[in-house]
Amino acid sequence: MPELPEVETVARQLRPLLVGRTITGARVLAVRTLGGESAAAFTRGVKGLCIDAVRRRAKFVVCDVSRGGRPAGALIVHLRMTGRLHVVAPETPRGAYLRVALALDDGRELRFDDVRRFGRFVRARDADAFLDELGPEPLGDAFDAAWLARELAARRRALKPLLLDQTFLAGLGNIYVDEALHRAGLHPLRRSDRVPRERVAPLHDAIRAVLTEAIEREGSSFDVFYRTPEGSPGRFQDEFRVYGRDGQPCRTCGATLVRIVVGQRGTHLCPRCQRAPRVPGGAGGSTRPRRARPSDVAAIARVHVDAWRAAYAGLVPQAHLDALSVENRRKLWERLIRTPPDPRHATFVSARGDAVLGFADAGPARGGELDPDRVGEVTSIYLRPDVVGTGLGRALMAHALRHLARRGFREAVVWVLEGNERARRFYRAAGFVEDGGRTVWRGSGAELPEIRARRPLP
Ligand SMILES: [Zn+2]
Repeated sequence: MPELPEVETVARQLRPLLVGRTITGARVLAVRTLGGESAAAFTRGVKGLCIDAVRRRAKFVVCDVSRGGRPAGALIVHLRMTGRLHVVAPETPRGAYLRVALALDDGRELRFDDVRRFGRFVRARDADAFLDELGPEPLGDAFDAAWLARELAARRRALKPLLLDQTFLAGLGNIYVDEALHRAGLHPLRRSDRVPRERVAPLHDAIRAVLTEAIEREGSSFDVFYRTPEGSPGRFQDEFRVYGRDGQPCRTCGATLVRIVVGQRGTHLCPRCQRAPRVPGGAGGSTRPRRARPSDVAAIARVHVDAWRAAYAGLVPQAHLDALSVENRRKLWERLIRTPPDPRHATFVSARGDAVLGFADAGPARGGELDPDRVGEVTSIYLRPDVVGTGLGRALMAHALRHLARRGFREAVVWVLEGNERARRFYRAAGFVEDGGRTVWRGSGAELPEIRARRPLP
């Protein structure tokens, strides 16, 4: 989806082609693109307008127009996911996704193509009113480190959703927020009012640097949709440090980059360069693990799916991760918690109030090969992605192992997907040693080797 650098590139390339031109007619092929105006009213309204300026505001291309020398509002284009603006000779064959075309007095046409039809080409009588609710421009003078420090401190929101909020700061989207936060060494879930004062100026500089460099490279093209008006792809995708690079090494420190989900947006980060915020109030105290209750089931299911998506990205086919259903997990955990398969089976949660931060599940070893009276199994430790690295996982593991020891088990085993290095490190730190036991995980057409690790219980 085009963000500030892509839209800036579009505006810059269109400017010399459009400024000074008069619109002589319009063809509307998708009335929905007009954002509410009828095709007839739009066509009548734009005819005779002179284009005085072409600029960008946030992620909008704004063409200021006049009629007979008097300001007449603006044409505002939002490319959304797949919109594309270009100026061509009228005999150029029309693409299958042409939505709006304006005839210009030099004989050429401004065309708006849009595969997905989420884009908008709107006539606004007052551009400022239309764009009124947007926050400041990140490359403008109003956005300085002092403003950012003040505004971050005044809010209590996680950094990523705040920076994506167009009413806070205009023009940033998923790619450039992830890139800027990595450069600034700040975790996307860090709360805005807890960003240390000395880290604000680096964040401000990182946002500007990422945008400026991306504009120099005419934006980023990681799919077929974004093309400049001249038809070429952007080049900044080759410079991404984290976006879309989960599973690959961090270019700064070499740690493996991860993908988590923040506010339903895929979020890419380096767990070493961008340390997870501590759980509000600290990881101890009331987050001490306790037995799961039926009222925890929905929250456990949510954590289960989110943690799976974060931990298994790149290991399991993405289609499988996308298909994970909170509802199915809810049924599974409802069953396991209400009617455990064995009296020695238990599910534990770390929670703060009603918010489940993570859970663990333990019981007799399954599978037949191991003696289920002697060997217990920790079947899962799952954490909400934003509390990974805060010590909650270790506390849950210790709790599950104590439970197994108290039920008379002499040994504990875990199974972990072979490529999941993070989980392997975690279990090694908890005293587990891989013993050569293997099985195969099967799900959604994928088969992946699972490795067994075991440790004695006191
Ligand atoms: Zn790093």
